[in-house]
Amino acid sequence: MSRKAEATAEPITVLGLGQMGSAIARVLTSRGHPTTVWNRTATKSGPLVDAGASAAASAAEAVSASSVVVICVLDYDAVDAVLDSLGAVIAGKTLVNVTSGSPNRARTVQRWATEHGADYLDGGILGDPTDVGSAHVILSFSGSRTAFEMHGATLRELGTPTYYGEDAGLASVEFMAQVAVGYELLMGFLHTLHLVQREGVDPAEFAARAADSVNAYGPLLTAMGAAVRDRSYPPDLGPLAVQAPLMVDLVEHRRSLGVDTLRMDEVKALMDRRVADGYGDEGFSSLYALLAREAAADAHP
Ligand code: NAP
Repeated sequence: MSRKAEATAEPITVLGLGQMGSAIARVLTSRGHPTTVWNRTATKSGPLVDAGASAAASAAEAVSASSVVVICVLDYDAVDAVLDSLGAVIAGKTLVNVTSGSPNRARTVQRWATEHGADYLDGGILGDPTDVGSAHVILSFSGSRTAFEMHGATLRELGTPTYYGEDAGLASVEFMAQVAVGYELLMGFLHTLHLVQREGVDPAEFAARAADSVNAYGPLLTAMGAAVRDRSYPPDLGPLAVQAPLMVDLVEHRRSLGVDTLRMDEVKALMDRRVADGYGDEGFSSLYALLAREAAADAHP
């Protein structure tokens, strides 16, 4: 770290020194930010103090040390517990909350911060604590645009940040949706590994081939997003009228091996309905029309 960088790095407080909070505090300290840390269990601040951070005896004392406060605790109940202990000391500060949670809980904290005279930026972190400080960590932010613009350089030291708008819930929308894409894909993948193992195929060798196939899905996902937005469904993955007949064998194959059919039953039912409704020339993205219709029917029974 050069003398110039040390002189210009802004002081930061980090509340919460679990795996992620400790990684954040460690990177900020190593990049020359005067860093004040606090954790409910005080012993966790020891390694960070050894690395050059200052430990505060209370969350309020830690907040008073810097104009930018990062909070990274387990969940929003923990966020509430810490914020409730602060009193008036948060007024005039920028609060950056990178604890994972729902959009509405982020919006509630945004209102709390506004009422207490603080600028609020909500954030989501996609990545491992060991990667914090590299571009591999994807950070979503929303809330105060001023805070994002003023402290963008510091946030970029932690990973690759993107700002989604003034509504504090938007960072969480992005985070939750990205996590969901991963979990839905991986849950289906685990069931399919069950299938290949039941058939005596090496799951690790199959997984390597599947990884190559999944690499080709990027352009398809982008095209499906546009199809859903435009409500115009080209025959991606081929026409439904050609895909639907395969589903009988696909579901039966899984059932015969005792492999879960939940998602494939859904695909088959939606394809059959879409073909029966006269949309057999459209592609997989066309199934979205039924999801949207059912959601609308639920909302207005
Ligand atoms: P962690 O290692 O389990 O640490 C949890 C932290 O929350 C600890 O500092 C703990 O304090 C604190 N805490 C829990 N309840 C509290 C309460 N009531 N009052 C005050 N502090 C409380 O979790 P983590 O991995 O650091 O995760 C923190 C956040 O980052 C989570 O929202 C998580 O979803 C997100 N995140 C984590 C990862 C990851 O891979 N770890 C990746 C992306 C995002 P004590 O030490 O006193 O228990």
